[in-house]
Amino acid sequence: MFKGKTALVTGSTSGIGLGIAKALGAKGANLVLNGFGDAAEIERLRASLSSEFGVDVAYEGADLTKPPAIESMVASIEKRFGAIDILVNNAGIQHVAPTEHFPVDRWDAVIAVNLSSAFHAIRCALPAMKRRNWGRIVNIASAHGLVASAEKVAYVAAKHGIVGMTKVVALETARTGITCNAICPGWVLTPLVQKQIDARAAQNGVPIEQAKVALLGEKQPSLEFVTPQQIGEIAVFLCSDAAQQVRGASWSVDGGWTAQ
Ligand code: NAD
Repeated sequence: MFKGKTALVTGSTSGIGLGIAKALGAKGANLVLNGFGDAAEIERLRASLSSEFGVDVAYEGADLTKPPAIESMVASIEKRFGAIDILVNNAGIQHVAPTEHFPVDRWDAVIAVNLSSAFHAIRCALPAMKRRNWGRIVNIASAHGLVASAEKVAYVAAKHGIVGMTKVVALETARTGITCNAICPGWVLTPLVQKQIDARAAQNGVPIEQAKVALLGEKQPSLEFVTPQQIGEIAVFLCSDAAQQVRGASWSVDGGWTAQ
């Protein structure tokens, strides 16, 4: 389906990004991984994805809080592969605290990774997509791009921002072969959420399993986690020809969270 195309998935050394990279690789896309982690483990991951899917897999270690690093990453991918055909802005971090106590450096970091990095990657990748008149931009927003929760001011602001950015880019590319959409997941059991479960278990003095059930029960009517594989399949659909007229959409995959 995507043979000969190149997909950059930011934050793909873990969690949802890795699920999306695998789903795109399984459909034949060459992959560029990005994200932090142990160098030897990342190299093992790179090599195993390449042999599993028979595609070219590169790794770019850009720190997405740094716009010049994003510019260099896009330039280096274009030099090697010609263009980024599929751009998945997935990298994200979380910090939980009441607004009046929210550390300013955490605000800056969450906005930089979860919002500004997508702007920089899109602005850098668009010219080559436009030259080929084909491109797919998929932004990983969140249920928190549509509704709020207390104590997540930076995350909710960034995710609402990315839903808005998705619409703007979709309008600006509406008469081209480039589409831009967002996916809005509910709870997915990744390291980002495990940290929140551990913190809640410690705070409330309850076992981890109990904290997990309570976390789901608060927001997610299905009482089941969404999986990275399920999000990967939605990304594949948004990148397919069938989704050519899906533009500026925010696709919820949240076990009913935002239906309430
Ligand atoms: P995760 O912690 O498993 O993975 C985050 C990835 O981002 C990692 O690869 C990490 O190395 C990378 N990253 C973080 N800071 C970076 C930086 N400065 N530069 C480069 N890479 C960086 O988290 P996840 O749960 O897989 O989250 C992925 C995306 O999905 C995020 O945007 C998150 O907000 C969103 N999301 C997650 C959930 C959930 O329940 N887990 C729900 C909705 C949305």
